[in-house]
Amino acid sequence: MDEIRDLYQEVILDHNKHPRNFHKMENADSTLDGYNPLCGDHYTFYLRFDGDVIAEVSFEGSGCAISKASASIMSAILKGKKRDEAERLFELFTGIVTGRIAAEEHIAELGKLAAFAGVAEFPVRVKCATLPWHTMHGALQGENDKVSTE
Ligand code: ZN
Repeated sequence: MDEIRDLYQEVILDHNKHPRNFHKMENADSTLDGYNPLCGDHYTFYLRFDGDVIAEVSFEGSGCAISKASASIMSAILKGKKRDEAERLFELFTGIVTGRIAAEEHIAELGKLAAFAGVAEFPVRVKCATLPWHTMHGALQGENDKVSTE
């Protein structure tokens, strides 16, 4: 279990240090700000759709390692996913980081998202990990004001 934990730690550190899709998107179909005042995490998310499919996700902004890694991994995972698949992952991800859903039962589906299962042990970090997902969810729901965790 320690080995798995170390591996997950590495995934988070890598994505924090080298965030994927970390740039502004000029031709975005949806742009939404996400803000977590408790920690100071503040990002702008950009989504581009191709019909029902999320063609591209990018983000910019700043925040702690957990929020940045979560945004980076989310942006990579959602590329090519349908809207309903993205909503399903939103439910699953928020479920595992709040401890409502056992990550072990969904390892294949979670992929790198499983790296955040340990966040459930640190309640103050839950909002950091879920901020990108709540913002993406808001964008899919047609929200165009900013999303805040408070
Ligand atoms: Zn944070």
